Amino acid sequence: MRAACNVGANDVEQTLGTAARPLRVAIIGAGPAAFYAVEALFKQPNLVCQVDMFNRFPTPYGLVREGVAPDHESIKAVTRVYDKTATNPAFRYFGNVTFGKDVHLDELLPLYDQIVYAVGAQSDRRMGIPGEDLEGSYPATIFVGWYNGHPDYRDLEFDLSCEKVAVVGNGNVAMDVARILVTDPEALATTDIADHALEALRQSKVKEVYLLGRRGPAQASFTNPELKEFGELEGVDVVVDPRDLELDPASEESLLTDKNATRNINVLRRYIEEGAEGYKQPRKVYFKFLTSPVEVLGDGDKVTGLKIERNKLEVQGDGTLRAKGTGEIETLDVGLIFRSVGYRGMALNGVEFDEKTGTIPNVAGRVINLATGEQQTGQYVVGWAKRGPSGIIGTNKPDSLSTVQSMVGDLPDLKGIEDSKRDLGLIEDLLKEKGLDYVTYQDWLVLNEYEVSRGKAQNRPRVKCTRVGEMLDIIKQGAAAQA
Ligand code: NAP
Repeated sequence: MRAACNVGANDVEQTLGTAARPLRVAIIGAGPAAFYAVEALFKQPNLVCQVDMFNRFPTPYGLVREGVAPDHESIKAVTRVYDKTATNPAFRYFGNVTFGKDVHLDELLPLYDQIVYAVGAQSDRRMGIPGEDLEGSYPATIFVGWYNGHPDYRDLEFDLSCEKVAVVGNGNVAMDVARILVTDPEALATTDIADHALEALRQSKVKEVYLLGRRGPAQASFTNPELKEFGELEGVDVVVDPRDLELDPASEESLLTDKNATRNINVLRRYIEEGAEGYKQPRKVYFKFLTSPVEVLGDGDKVTGLKIERNKLEVQGDGTLRAKGTGEIETLDVGLIFRSVGYRGMALNGVEFDEKTGTIPNVAGRVINLATGEQQTGQYVVGWAKRGPSGIIGTNKPDSLSTVQSMVGDLPDLKGIEDSKRDLGLIEDLLKEKGLDYVTYQDWLVLNEYEVSRGKAQNRPRVKCTRVGEMLDIIKQGAAAQA
């Protein structure tokens, strides 16, 4: 049984998380981890709570909207579950409100018993090699944002007039980027890819994409369906160097327990067999394993090539395999380079942050002070901000649930906010006082309807609005039409 809290002028004991004293929770972020946290809260037996979600953009869903590749439409069906969660009367959405800029931690702490950070990993990791910042060398994350209509990146221009591109990294983001670059733009024209990206890709001269993995094919982190997709693309040859499939004993052994790697090796061997008949397609993807970029070459400010070094694998003390340079150098005459070597978390104003891991330090989702280990009362974290940028969308469901279990477990000792601050209108008053044009879930549904109906006319799932101002205008027009 939960401990009763001593509250109110009448000194009436009311338990936090009951009808008399609902738990007030703020969730920062609106991606999968955020929605799974809300769902888990609403499913807690005997817990009465009121959840407010704050999101930087008017549009919810985080990386489902701004990260999942446009040709992976079926993955986005997961948003139906989020929409259902959002119908709970105890849920409110405040879109177009940036935590740390529009509202601050010290403003939310008096209004919420618990705050959950679900902010993902907003930045990227660097390769740490000379020339990395030359024009033409970019993080894959911004290219992904660009083709997905992320408002921050929609005005970027990528020079796709070169024929050869290198994508560094062997994760699923690298696979997405490489696939988008070689897919026939007319196939993308049936997706929700941002219009500006579709136009640019229609003019693209890119014919060859080099996917560079620093370790071997048995260590690649991409998943098997993503690898198989390349074999199904119209007009694309997949080229694999047979030398890379000669596995060292440790890699061979790892296959006994790693099903994904075994399937990947089988598919790569099939690509080699198919290639033996010759390569005839206009576009090519080269899988190059055991290679690390060592220098980005440039002519003035602009990328002209990438120097790569052949690696061998070395077994570490903990049994893992690490890439080590052999001194064998090759130059790829690429005009564009996308580094896809992992996302990285960014610090939130006033919130604990571990620079080393790029995450919010926590124990089972409870935010802790990095220096002292002391729990930051009422503050929690879920998703990539909690565990780092790993796993698929579904990984966030149990992850968010475990944080919610910590939240509920802490209730007996949680004093909670003052009763005078429990008025649900206080946050709305604060946002209005600050002149913030916040977006409700109902507003988002108006915008959603608009995007979907524009898409219908073009036989596409939706045509995205990619500017915040445009989104707000559509919402206002929709609200005016309904009035
Ligand atoms: P990831 O899976 O962690 O892959 C990062 C890759 O970068 C690894 O191959 C890593 O190699 C490599 N790397 C790191 N540092 C490097 C360096 N200095 N030089 C060369 N290579 C380097 O990350 P991600 O691709 O960004 O994906 C993030 C998460 O989102 C993953 O869990 C992914 O599965 C998920 N995701 C899923 C989908 C999907 O389901 N379709 C789509 C996109 C993303 P090592 O292994 O040697 O470290």
